[in-house]
Amino acid sequence: MGQLQERYKNYREPQKYMEAGVYPYFRAITSKQGTEVEMTGHKVLMFGSNAYTGLTGDKRVIDAAKRALDKYGSGCAGSRFLNGTLDIHVQLEKELAEFMHKDDTLCFSTGFSVNQGVLAQVVGKGDYIICDDRDHASIVDGRRLSFARQLHYKHNDMEDLERVLKALPHDAIKLIVVDGVFSMEGDLAKLPEIVALKRKYNCSVMVDEAHGLGVFGKQGRGVCDHFGLTDEVDLIMGTFSKSLASIGGFIAGDKDTINFLRHTCRTYIFSASNTPAATAAALEALHIIQNEPELIEHLWEVTRYALDRFREEGFEIGETESPIIPLYVHDVEKTFLVTKLAFDAGVFINPVIPPACAPQDTLVRFALMANHTKEEVERGVQALKKIFVEQGIIK
Ligand code: PMP
Repeated sequence: MGQLQERYKNYREPQKYMEAGVYPYFRAITSKQGTEVEMTGHKVLMFGSNAYTGLTGDKRVIDAAKRALDKYGSGCAGSRFLNGTLDIHVQLEKELAEFMHKDDTLCFSTGFSVNQGVLAQVVGKGDYIICDDRDHASIVDGRRLSFARQLHYKHNDMEDLERVLKALPHDAIKLIVVDGVFSMEGDLAKLPEIVALKRKYNCSVMVDEAHGLGVFGKQGRGVCDHFGLTDEVDLIMGTFSKSLASIGGFIAGDKDTINFLRHTCRTYIFSASNTPAATAAALEALHIIQNEPELIEHLWEVTRYALDRFREEGFEIGETESPIIPLYVHDVEKTFLVTKLAFDAGVFINPVIPPACAPQDTLVRFALMANHTKEEVERGVQALKKIFVEQGIIK
């Protein structure tokens, strides 16, 4: 037996849940993405997706991807830096800069690699990076890769953030990094307060708009726009894997910082560029969200409906203000059980357990898309209510 096998042979965490018949991961979808999907021969209502605008199955997006596939081929076989730049990459970067009201952007092949690469590069020795303790794993990893001193504050606790900032040198570069919308609990960063602290303590701010894009702000520009603070936020990152119906991500900012990153950011330079199909799909989705405001209006209509219904039925849904609705269970085993019972009842939701949340805060995550109907949401609420009552989680 090799060293690694010797070490990992006793890793039994997943088996525990498999043996209990509640293992919820890696279920294969065998149909097109939509509000209803087929999974392992079973039709389920999809409430576990991040496709808030519901555009992943949109014919225009799919056709744009097909045209790009025909025109450019299946991959770029190289980095943006060398042979991997297509005219549509350049167009997408230009349109995103205009959309986000920033000087310039860079597009990466995943959202994860934006945070990982940008944070590792943009701050270094002698600088400070300060994160909310619920920031996404990609921010945590980027932070770890940088040579800056790493600090964090309690989730959305502005007093704690001020306590951290107060102790730092006024002239040092201090970058505060937050999720605009927290991906598991659906609450928003307190951006107005963060920006006030940024001014008071001479800092910079970066906001991750992975879950804000296509949901908040004018035409779905995100939470920075929602709060009217785009100019105060130095760097904004976004992903294509959620509202833009594709895969990839971007960083938006002032021309000098972006120019520095364009020539030094390792996940941008040493990784192959995004595929033609994925790039064209994101571009098409970006056009659709700008031209069809009714899409985001409908997303909010079903979101408000779901929020009201879950509250009426007595679910504990925390501080959410977004299409991400956490249904608290407060028990790891029960969270898996609820997920399995919901699946059996035809409702797909995501279990959220540590390290994605604190051990006492486990939940199932119910997320809305613009193409959900109220009738579908109601079916989801009813099925979950029955399960939560039977399991003694709610009355
Ligand atoms: N930031 C946040 C807040 C996320 O939730 C995610 C993915 N879930 C990412 C970054 C990474 O984006 P991607 O999945 O597009 O790589």
